[in-house]
Amino acid sequence: MRTHLCGEVNEQLADQTVQLCGWVDRRRDLGGLIFIGLRDHAGIIQIVVEPDSPAFSDAEGLRNEFCVRISGQVRMRPESQWNDSMATGKIEVVADRVELLNASAPMPLMMTDEDGEEIRLKYRYLDLRRPRMQHNLRTRARMYRAIRNSLDKKGFTELETPVLTKATPEGARDYLVPSRVHAGQYYALPQSPQLFKQMLMMAGMDRYYQIARCFRDEDLRADRQPEFTQLDIEMAFVEEKDVQNCAEAVIREVFRETLGADLPDPFPRLSWKAAMDRYGSDKPDLRLPMQLVSVDEHVAHIDFRVFSGPANEEGSRVAALRIPAAADLSRKMIDEYTQYVGRYGAKGLAWIKVNDSAAGLDGLQSPIAKFLDEKAWQGIAGVTGVESGDILLFGAGEWFTVSNFMGQLLVKAGHDRGLVEQGWQPLWVNEFPMFEWDEDCARYMAMHHPFTAPAEPDPAALLANPAASLSKGYDMVLNGSEIGGGSIRIHKPEMQQTVFKLLGIGEEEAQQKFGFLLEALKYGCPPHGGIAFGLDRIAALMTGEESIRDVIAFPKTTTAQCLLTSAPSPVPDEQVAELHIRNLGKPD
Ligand code: ASP
Repeated sequence: MRTHLCGEVNEQLADQTVQLCGWVDRRRDLGGLIFIGLRDHAGIIQIVVEPDSPAFSDAEGLRNEFCVRISGQVRMRPESQWNDSMATGKIEVVADRVELLNASAPMPLMMTDEDGEEIRLKYRYLDLRRPRMQHNLRTRARMYRAIRNSLDKKGFTELETPVLTKATPEGARDYLVPSRVHAGQYYALPQSPQLFKQMLMMAGMDRYYQIARCFRDEDLRADRQPEFTQLDIEMAFVEEKDVQNCAEAVIREVFRETLGADLPDPFPRLSWKAAMDRYGSDKPDLRLPMQLVSVDEHVAHIDFRVFSGPANEEGSRVAALRIPAAADLSRKMIDEYTQYVGRYGAKGLAWIKVNDSAAGLDGLQSPIAKFLDEKAWQGIAGVTGVESGDILLFGAGEWFTVSNFMGQLLVKAGHDRGLVEQGWQPLWVNEFPMFEWDEDCARYMAMHHPFTAPAEPDPAALLANPAASLSKGYDMVLNGSEIGGGSIRIHKPEMQQTVFKLLGIGEEEAQQKFGFLLEALKYGCPPHGGIAFGLDRIAALMTGEESIRDVIAFPKTTTAQCLLTSAPSPVPDEQVAELHIRNLGKPD
């Protein structure tokens, strides 16, 4: 139907006849001359319809988003009419034929960034016509191609795993599918292909990957989707470094091929403890040129209990954050920050403005200056590297709470002050604790998942001191987002049983839920490990989108609805009855 794409027409085609198809982006009638912006996925080109053209009467009836075919001659625009903001801004096509392929009802949305998300999701097929959304989905497709190229070269085999399956726990609620054939029995949609990919290693597949859809029925936080896509990878006969080296090479290649961006080689590595100490986060944003520093040893002796208490207590800390050139921070802003960290458990925020760093205590402006002596201040100044014009903010108390709220503050203040540097800053976070204690359930939870190997190889030693044990898990972090996570897996049945036991999964429950895994581990399972990357998040980072919904063709709302198809929706009683369940209808 067409000879070229709209965005492809260029000066080289001057004087040639072209046939183009697309949508009317806008139409201007300049009394006699009609200008049409014709749009397809490749771009927009200006079409001119002159009054004596046989196409004139057809062009007159066109409206926004009418679908048309146009034939005409490419012509250079006079230099005075060049439009630098358009790739095709030096040319236009003089139409001799305008063929209406399909009219459009008046647009229910403006087709701009001003449209609300609800209307955009309802009319997603229109929203996706916009250049921004076209760019996002096509960038994502390029990323997929780069992933496949990279893994293919590295000897990986792309394999599929079932969607109708048994529950694979990743810590969320399962989506269940009732079986029609087996009354009272249910499939679960996979939260990840975790156990299948491990069994593929037992099956000798050696290096597996899959671009896999995962399902987690969680109360959705702002930027989660009930179904999301991950790049799932598993490798046999590997240790942590092997998986990490391979995974970061893939990510480097994918960024180079998709965006032409060069990521560092190698990625820095940071233990979980160091990440919490220095950034107050297990996903530090290294684009922010700030770190938390502990000042405990410098304030342990002062007469200010808020500091000296935690400074002398095991498991507590006094952490300082230096914000460069921020001594101009108003009291109102400081109060706002105090409120902000309060949400994360802070009881308060102490501050020191440094007016003159050469003047010692006299150069400070602070409600807590009176508690400091020169020794304390020189110590603080030394470790924080503070300079005139900076502000120091302090948090004190239990180690994790302080690290966490000061980390949140670091990110917020860094953004507020415009300190985020350009570029891509990846890193590995590793040496995670194996377990975290869940107060509500009064039991240990797996920090990664129950199949992650502990650093401690002896099950008896692990049982003796689970709280102190580290795991062989790792996360890949990019610009403050966790983009991937994985681990070396448990490959021996005794260790798997020990970990189940520590997680409060009794023998019977372990057999019922994971009997097949425990059985499979008995038959010469190779050491193995892997990782999974959140492709929605990576695509959002690549396209500069805040929300992963903007890189998913047909996403759901934060309440897990598809506004386009109206799913979920009621079904007739008979259909429900076939599944051996009762249709309770809508709750009152
Ligand atoms: N299955 C894990 C997840 O989905 C990733 C992994 O351990 O490979 O988060």
